[in-house]
Amino acid sequence: MIRLALDQGAQLSMNQETTSTTEPNNKDFIREIIDQDLESGKHSAIVTRFPPEPNGYLHIGHAKSICLNFGIAEEYKGRCHLRFDDTNPAKEDQEYVDSIKEDVRWLGFDWKENLHFSSDYFDQLYDWAVHLIREGKAYVDDLNVEDMRAYRGSLTEAGKDSPFRTRSVEENLNLFAAMKNGDFDEGAKVLRAKIDMAHPNLNMRDPVLYRILKKHHHRTGNTWCIYPNYDFTHGESDALEHITHSLCTLEFENHRPLYEWFIDNLPVPSQPRQIEFARLNLTYTVISKRKLLQLVEDQQVSGWDDPRMPTLSGMRRRGYTPESIRHFCGRIGITKFNATTDVALLEHSLREDLNLNSPRVMAVLDPIKVVITNYPEDQVEEMEAANHPGDESFGTRKVPFCRELYIERDDFMEDAPRKFFRMSVGREVRFRAAYFIKCEEVVKDEHGEVIELRCTYDPETRGGNNPPDGRKVKGTIHWVSARHAIDAEVRIYDRLFTVENPDSEEGDFTNYLNPDSLKILTKCKLEPSLTTAAPGDRFQFERLGYFCRDNKNTDQLVFNRTVPLRDSWGKQQRK
Ligand code: ATP
Ligand code: MG
Repeated sequence: MIRLALDQGAQLSMNQETTSTTEPNNKDFIREIIDQDLESGKHSAIVTRFPPEPNGYLHIGHAKSICLNFGIAEEYKGRCHLRFDDTNPAKEDQEYVDSIKEDVRWLGFDWKENLHFSSDYFDQLYDWAVHLIREGKAYVDDLNVEDMRAYRGSLTEAGKDSPFRTRSVEENLNLFAAMKNGDFDEGAKVLRAKIDMAHPNLNMRDPVLYRILKKHHHRTGNTWCIYPNYDFTHGESDALEHITHSLCTLEFENHRPLYEWFIDNLPVPSQPRQIEFARLNLTYTVISKRKLLQLVEDQQVSGWDDPRMPTLSGMRRRGYTPESIRHFCGRIGITKFNATTDVALLEHSLREDLNLNSPRVMAVLDPIKVVITNYPEDQVEEMEAANHPGDESFGTRKVPFCRELYIERDDFMEDAPRKFFRMSVGREVRFRAAYFIKCEEVVKDEHGEVIELRCTYDPETRGGNNPPDGRKVKGTIHWVSARHAIDAEVRIYDRLFTVENPDSEEGDFTNYLNPDSLKILTKCKLEPSLTTAAPGDRFQFERLGYFCRDNKNTDQLVFNRTVPLRDSWGKQQRK
């Protein structure tokens, strides 16, 4: 397995050189094929599709496929269909359909009038199954699951014909109609294609086309009790929608001969071409709906949109921007080999976007009180603070300053080493956008814990500027006014798993869940401007990281930490 890594060094160079090395490579092998098809006149317009099965929420892996399919449609001025591949009523649900639509839109794509469901083609698919039976290319089989498996052979051994393979066309037509009418129990019979039980590709050994499932379907209700399977549905749906390039992940490479067999043996209205690319894998997470569903059902997370989940709804709630995800998908490109991408690369794309686009505010997560003893008791000053150090268009805001403030507990140290440029008795620091402040005395409770710092300010340093005597300080820290601060809960997230590749470790992947992936801080103090933060709004809390107001607990003020300012994760782990 090849690993796309981003180490600290690479990150630095990427920060310095943001465009040239990181622009999406827009001529991958798929786009090259498309160029050729346009040049040769094979196609004059390009049509792609994104075909999720509505059996779970979309994850970051789906984003790769969405960006590829919708991206190509945009670049070539074609169209991309959103098609729900809803052929398994046992696992599918309207809730998933709704969430998938919301997520595709949120990522910034529009299927316009091209919304489709495979279930819309059930009548057509049934007719085509009958067509195959008539042509002697499909038959009803009574073998049970185990026998069918035994008859199938293996990679080294040819399969054996089922004893039911020689049924007459007449008998097959009658039995298939009876299957459709609900005359048989689930599992009693299947419809299979008659291809070749000795074919070197196991998918070509008389694959199943239809199975009996007496289940309610979220769209067709109880109309059907037989359902076509994926292989029999996908290519035909592509053909019906005039898809030109059907892009799927590498595990379908072995299914391509079957895809083509259906296209060749049915009177389909167009000839789509299947092309495979490598799926996205990310370190420190699992990307599979089945596993994500397990985490939800076992309540290892609070739901599909838990901010620790690699789902698009979880990432949205965490504070990810659609732009950062699209940019990441462009960066990783499209290849034919399976690789695992370092999650740090995703976080790098995120930070890059948040750094440019998040207003700065001050928030204290673990407060300790500061009293400015020489500041008048009742005075309040509105200090003017820049909302973005690199972009004046963000403007400024007023932050109230008064005699009692809060600072971060770890911005104070009692026996500080020489190079500790924050608060310590006898040392002076700059309070961002306010004053130079010197710590004079420490107040402790009966357990010896520091509960208050008594300090003095220098009125000559208003705005945090150097005083006329030219005195300088090395450190600048953030603060909030004790009287004006608003209370909030802040949730600090860490990676959901403790190992790079939970899927390839011994035992169940859930053994590697990170017990410290969520810390809830309930005593946080925020500057008052955050009173108006709307759910989903993103900020940089100065010196701490990027935070997003939670879009769920809207009756309280809850912020989710999206990412810290820098990637210190590797370092922490190595300690
Ligand atoms: P999962 O493995 O998570 O269950 P899936 O492939 O079964 O995913 P679908 O709903 O069938 O999920 O996927 C819709 C589309 O998204 C398919 O074309 C699929 O190939 C693509 N896709 C799914 N996972 C990834 C991934 N990790 N990277 C790239 N594309 C993906
Ligand atoms: Mg699938």
